[in-house]
Amino acid sequence: MALVPFDDRDGFIWFDGAMVPWREAKLHVLSHGLHYASAVFEGERAYSGTIFRLRAHTERLIASGRILGFEVPYTVEQIEAACRQVLAANNLTDAYVRPIAWRGSEMLAVSAQHTRIHLAIACWPWPNMFGEARMKGVRLGIADWKRPHPETAPTASKAAGLYMIGTLAKHKAEAEGFDDALMLDWRGQVAEETGANIFFVFDGEVHTPIPDCFLNGITRRTVMSIARHNQMKVVERVIMPDELTRATEAFVAGTAAEVTPVREIGPYRFTPGDITFRLAKDYEALVHMQPAEVEARAPI
Ligand code: PMP
Repeated sequence: MALVPFDDRDGFIWFDGAMVPWREAKLHVLSHGLHYASAVFEGERAYSGTIFRLRAHTERLIASGRILGFEVPYTVEQIEAACRQVLAANNLTDAYVRPIAWRGSEMLAVSAQHTRIHLAIACWPWPNMFGEARMKGVRLGIADWKRPHPETAPTASKAAGLYMIGTLAKHKAEAEGFDDALMLDWRGQVAEETGANIFFVFDGEVHTPIPDCFLNGITRRTVMSIARHNQMKVVERVIMPDELTRATEAFVAGTAAEVTPVREIGPYRFTPGDITFRLAKDYEALVHMQPAEVEARAPI
């Protein structure tokens, strides 16, 4: 597949309050966000013209900035309007939406109290992170990099800096022929995939790790809500890797990954099954509903 570079496309990007031609959405190389990772972002999906759980994503963007010590200079309503405008400007109804906020170039040192906070929002077609064959189950390696202790990094923020080890883990997994990597945390507990949360089926119950050092994803909470609505038992608990021999199904859940079965994690094997397919199907139906209906059917 030919790669279309992200800086050389037709379309528009919302940038600091204005809709600018895609190729002109540039920033200076001496931006604090680039040098010191003072950036937070979101990953959203629009389905049939409506951005799924836009309120939750927008509130998380603002909260992520506050964790990094800055205030995104727009209201929730302004950011939501900008997300919708950028979809419309690009004539897209089904797309991935990427808001990103970062510290500018007024100061370039560890201390950057007086930098301007910028916000850009782009969108592009991205059918699914794992492509067409994903329902057969993806294959994950186990990463060497560990999710850090929450006193070591701002783990509750969707901060760009946290993705540094994600990219290292995913590149290694890909080099070994896997689709992605499962990350353990610093204690050796199962944490998450590099860009999605993880779930397992044990004895017909849905089990997932406690999100105390990684994102408590919007999709994760949505899937738990759907599962409970289906009378499934949902358990958040410490999961150690050696327990995975007993799990029958595994799947990941995230905005980009949606609900995707996992058939392999390192030495462990799973068979995509009824519980995963049921949750994937219900999630797929939910994302096409209007916000009020989503809130009523799957409160998070
Ligand atoms: N963990 C990581 C590291 C992620 O990047 C994502 C995607 N934002 C998730 C979990 C899942 O979060 P969400 O369901 O809110 O997209």
